[in-house]
Amino acid sequence: MISLEAALKLSSEELKNLKQDLSKKIKEKKELGAYIEQFLDSEINTSGDGVPVAIKDNIQVKGWSVTSASKILQGYIAPYDATAIVKLKNAGICPFGRTNMDEFAMGSTTATSFYGKTLNPLDNSRVPGGSSGGSAAAVAGGIAIAALGSDTGGSIRQPAAFCGCVGFKPTYGRVSRYGLGAYSSSLDQIGPITQNVKDAAILYDIIKGHDEKDSTSYNGEYKPTNLDPNKKLKIAVIKNYIENTDEVIKNALLKTIEKLKSAGHEIVYKEFSNANIDIAAYYIIANAEASANLSRFDGVRYGRRAEAKNLHELYANTRAEGFGAEVQRRLLLGTFVLSSGYYDAYYVKAQKAREFIRREYEEVFNEADLIFSPVTPTLPYKFGSITEPLKVYLGDLYTVGANLAGLPAISVPVCKTNEGLSISAQLLGKAFDDENVLNGGLVLENLSKE
Ligand code: GLN
Repeated sequence: MISLEAALKLSSEELKNLKQDLSKKIKEKKELGAYIEQFLDSEINTSGDGVPVAIKDNIQVKGWSVTSASKILQGYIAPYDATAIVKLKNAGICPFGRTNMDEFAMGSTTATSFYGKTLNPLDNSRVPGGSSGGSAAAVAGGIAIAALGSDTGGSIRQPAAFCGCVGFKPTYGRVSRYGLGAYSSSLDQIGPITQNVKDAAILYDIIKGHDEKDSTSYNGEYKPTNLDPNKKLKIAVIKNYIENTDEVIKNALLKTIEKLKSAGHEIVYKEFSNANIDIAAYYIIANAEASANLSRFDGVRYGRRAEAKNLHELYANTRAEGFGAEVQRRLLLGTFVLSSGYYDAYYVKAQKAREFIRREYEEVFNEADLIFSPVTPTLPYKFGSITEPLKVYLGDLYTVGANLAGLPAISVPVCKTNEGLSISAQLLGKAFDDENVLNGGLVLENLSKE
């Protein structure tokens, strides 16, 4: 598939052909389940004259159905464009399809979607990762030039790693969350999923910027990203994270570190004590915020309304019918940790742990510009092979830290396995040093070609 960089230079005649070709390919690869809906050749031709980019089903595009892949939002039409979408449209990019995801972005497999699962394009018997699995499968499967996803605890980086494409989570506050279906507001961030690092930088530059409509939007300087493949980097390798991954991932990452050294980059070794508390803190905070955010889905204001005899029954029936099992589990957990009597024991403690994690990153950044770590502890697993929720949650242990600390992070493919699966490395940077993270991503990408 043509890169975003090249597509942005096409004439309108060339773009027309590209869209026809894309539409054909999407139909041929329908079994991937990457798209919930696409409008390339429908009457709602929102693709206009621009470069077509795919959009996760939790980002509002005016006039489109937007459902966060949930039954509860069936029938809901977006009344306005998310700020990221306004920016895309202004830059000559047109959203053309809704990609599949885990319901309300809660998950790591894209198997909890109301619309059914998405398959991993590298091996259809394996999960594509999640929650932005539809966006990653579309890009990696050659049926999207680029896509937008959202990342609360790894949902851009992990599916990108499982499918073999690039995923970038910007610093918290750099991309407006206005028009993004809220999961956990203090962690959520929109970002690009692309075929290469240059495209990620291009898409990120388009969607970033201060937005009055998002009170957590960063109100400072936004310079264009300047990529320099020859820049020498100072990288902290998190040794115990790398040792705690499957053998095949460990070996690939160790080889990548050797390549970085030979190319003249400075490597320091560090250990993190936070891996075990990251997951606990993340799942308490994310679920607590989700329980508050999703309380708006009550059968009165948005989407589906269940049959009921009174108001209480209306709430209960709508939620019982509309939310899937994983979402219900998380809302119960989130409500529990915020309830009086448990608030201090869980929620307050998780907030303290979050501050501890943030400081631990800060200390490492006194000695290095970037942190190198795995994205996931395992390769993409087969559908149905991991069913216990806690085991699935543990797969997020290397990605949630960036969200808890608000840091920019990228996942970049560095090697292929013998079975044709992909292995990625993750780079994290200081807050607002998104440029260096993208730059490090470019260095990794170039080294992986050698
Ligand atoms: N897998 C994580 C979760 O289920 C992350 C999801 C995300 O980033 N949206 O919460």
